[in-house]
Amino acid sequence: RLSKRLTNVSEYVKKLGTLADIGSDHAQLPIYLVQNKNVSKAIAGEVAKGPFQVAKSEVESHALEDKISVRFGDGLEILAPHEEVDTITICGMGGLLIGNILNEGIRQKILSKNTRLVLQPNNAEKELRDFLQKSNYEIIAEDLVEENHKFYEIIVAEYSEKNIQYTEIERTFGPLLLKEKSSTFYKKWEAELKTNKYIVEQLKNSKNSEKLKVTQKIIHQIKKVLS
Ligand code: SAM
Repeated sequence: RLSKRLTNVSEYVKKLGTLADIGSDHAQLPIYLVQNKNVSKAIAGEVAKGPFQVAKSEVESHALEDKISVRFGDGLEILAPHEEVDTITICGMGGLLIGNILNEGIRQKILSKNTRLVLQPNNAEKELRDFLQKSNYEIIAEDLVEENHKFYEIIVAEYSEKNIQYTEIERTFGPLLLKEKSSTFYKKWEAELKTNKYIVEQLKNSKNSEKLKVTQKIIHQIKKVLS
């Protein structure tokens, strides 16, 4: 069974198109999408030998070799020159790593401006939004999923000619998540508030004044957003 996190990710993948899932691990997401006929063809990319082998055998055991191409390589380099996909998913990695993978793709002119990005960072969501803004990607949808006592943000972005400008608060909390302010949003940020208050208590006796300042700033921002 596909996790709630990846099920929600799957809903933002362009229907009936092609998909590249980078860091696919067990290739669960492309297998699910092809089986449910939401995508016609998929590429599963992996940079680690173990997961690459697992992805390959999973695709074979589902007899989907004609629909899913499992490829070994770093980030978007697994795409052939001019090979355009409708959606790229990058899930379950740090936000900085996701940004680096996309940045390399832009630098090497592999990432097409027509491709939708569906990203699920495990952390550094603000830094990923900083990168998207800098690279002229507009956030067209966002989602927040709670599963096994963890919160996962999903960010869907498309290239835009518009001048994309989000405020710092929007890049921290998500411009669309902020608009919606769902009950899960309150739950996540109340938990974050508690964690950061605890960190401040711990830092009060240490000399790490920079970290203390940063933590106090985020506490201030969370309180403002939740009020
Ligand atoms: N995407 C799946 C998910 O969300 O459940 C798997 C997430 S798993 C925690 C992260 C995977 O990304 C690992 O299998 C790792 O080998 C792969 N990975 C990390 N950096 C990568 C890169 N630069 N290019 C391709 N795959 C990468």
